[in-house]
Amino acid sequence: MSLSAVHGTLSSLKSCQADIGTGMDIVTDVAMDLAEAPDEEADQGIKKMEAMILECAKLDREINYFVDIVQQVTSEVNTQQPEAMFGLSDKVKERFTERISKLSDGELQNHQKVVAFKENVKNSFNQAKQESVENPEQLDEDIAVTQSQVNFSCPLTQVVMVNPMKNKKCNHHYDEAAILGLIKTKQSQKKNCRCPVVGCGNTDVRQSDLIPDQILRRRIQSQKRHGSNRT
Ligand SMILES: [Zn+2]
Repeated sequence: MSLSAVHGTLSSLKSCQADIGTGMDIVTDVAMDLAEAPDEEADQGIKKMEAMILECAKLDREINYFVDIVQQVTSEVNTQQPEAMFGLSDKVKERFTERISKLSDGELQNHQKVVAFKENVKNSFNQAKQESVENPEQLDEDIAVTQSQVNFSCPLTQVVMVNPMKNKKCNHHYDEAAILGLIKTKQSQKKNCRCPVVGCGNTDVRQSDLIPDQILRRRIQSQKRHGSNRT
């Protein structure tokens, strides 16, 4: 196996990983639908979805470690003689097995998409409960949409968010690409990333504080649909 073949495989693994991420978002979406109309069957469904999410998180984590180790091992042989290529796959296997054996399933609970799953399902459930108490007759999505319309734009880009992320520390929202870009820029300047929302006291926004807010994303999408119907 040549190094370029290795790199090709790594990049297809990466795109596979992106698909896993999309799959996890879809599963979360379905679980949110179930949580909006809770009954025993929905409960069972949500449990199954949670198990799926955990499986995906595990796979995602393993791909991360695998890619990491392959990169490590190949960079080591890069500097050596071509003969070193022969032991490559054994070396990767050995290190991967060792690393994986040290991992615990408990850590998966901290996987960003697992956190997002739990948070979004819980919020959907609470929201449905609240709505049925407040106005059992009138579940008009339009009302909710107009009320929160103001919050749909990203404080960084000033345009409507595509992938809203909620900061669990200060509860502000930003679009994923914009906030990750800002964090990266600040990191390269060795500065803390302040929350870009005017008046917010959060001076240290970290990637680990951000949770994808699928409820908000749904509202934005539903507003877009309604909006395009009106025009
Ligand atoms: Zn903030």
